[in-house]
Amino acid sequence: MTHSKISAEKAIALEDKYGAHNYHPLPVVLERGEGVCVWDVNGKQYFDFLSAYSAVNQGHCHPKIISALVDQAQKLSLTSRAFYNDSLGEYEKFITSYFGYDKVLPMNTGAEGVETALKLARKWAYEKKQVPENEAKIIVCKNNFHGRTISIVSASNDEDARKNFGPFTPGILSVEYNNASALAELLTDKTIAAFLIEPIQGEAGVVVPDEGYLKKCYDLCKANNVLFIADEIQSGLGRTGKILACDHEGVHPDVLILGKALSGGTYPVAAVLASDDVMLCIKPGQHGSTYGGNPLACKVGIAALTVLKEEKLAENSERLGKILLKELQAIQSANPEVVKLVRGKGLWAAMVINERNGKTAWDVCIELMNNGLLAKPTHGDTIRFAPPLVINEEQLMECVSIIGKVVKLF
Ligand code: PLP
Repeated sequence: MTHSKISAEKAIALEDKYGAHNYHPLPVVLERGEGVCVWDVNGKQYFDFLSAYSAVNQGHCHPKIISALVDQAQKLSLTSRAFYNDSLGEYEKFITSYFGYDKVLPMNTGAEGVETALKLARKWAYEKKQVPENEAKIIVCKNNFHGRTISIVSASNDEDARKNFGPFTPGILSVEYNNASALAELLTDKTIAAFLIEPIQGEAGVVVPDEGYLKKCYDLCKANNVLFIADEIQSGLGRTGKILACDHEGVHPDVLILGKALSGGTYPVAAVLASDDVMLCIKPGQHGSTYGGNPLACKVGIAALTVLKEEKLAENSERLGKILLKELQAIQSANPEVVKLVRGKGLWAAMVINERNGKTAWDVCIELMNNGLLAKPTHGDTIRFAPPLVINEEQLMECVSIIGKVVKLF
């Protein structure tokens, strides 16, 4: 394999000069990926412990997904929804039966999926629940992350996400996460259309709620004729040890939002799933997207979901996730002055780092990088670990030993 013609320094300088400064990447320039590993422009190999924020659950460049992408790209890539195409119906049947819904509305990015769900919930509230015009409200959780559009940041309480982006979209209430009684109080308002929740909060630092919380919230929503919307864009598709994080509590959301690993990291594919009662509130011309439901996305989506089941990736995540958590807890016990807290579910874990001697979680990530493992801090002091779900036990143990070795240095 020949290496990239561009040096790391040059690639970073180009991004810095010509790209918007809306990210703060680790100083590593990647050029190739396969399975659980990526390689930089100098040929150095790393374990990918971010998996593109869980978009690459099936591993980098999964041959079956790439082959679906390439085959379809050579045939027909985009028709728009002005016409039918020969892949969309097949995909819609496949994904609705996979997750047990009547209908799917295909979109591209996660944020679009969330926007779609919010619009759907408002439409349903006016047309089915008879909420008075312009009074529908959505409840969200504190410390959520659902994307970056104006309406979605209107639902955020993160200063960085919101500052100087107002005025915000009205009709959004927020409730403490992992507090079903607080939700119960808000639900007495008859204008509530929906409750939007991440079953596990990813960007907040893999915050896992108490067992039973999701089910309680779902039951409260049912009792109050409020839609339960699960944003499983990051928590779904095997990441937590089940196909959906909601599966841990037997909850079947009224509206399910998927993205990221729905394409195995090859292409932006998102989906919103719901019953006929909810989905058919949207009529022709009321919502859509030029690329949503294109043939390429459809074939990639089918391949990505097929790989997930064929390779039992949720099962692997469940089994190896227990080992990962146990090993991280052992690292914490051995280094309590460095590691404040460890938590997680499936192959999705977080380690909260004590800031010491001016060293932060960022410095730990730089040292992990130097030792061949890529992870990124979230919210300053928390490092998220989310390897591709195709990882095996031997690779996982090698990664755990890198983490243990690096933590000892701090
Ligand atoms: N919802 C959740 C839970 C996410 O984690 C993300 C992205 O990290 C999004 C929505 C937004 O997805 P996208 O970046 O594809 O717009």
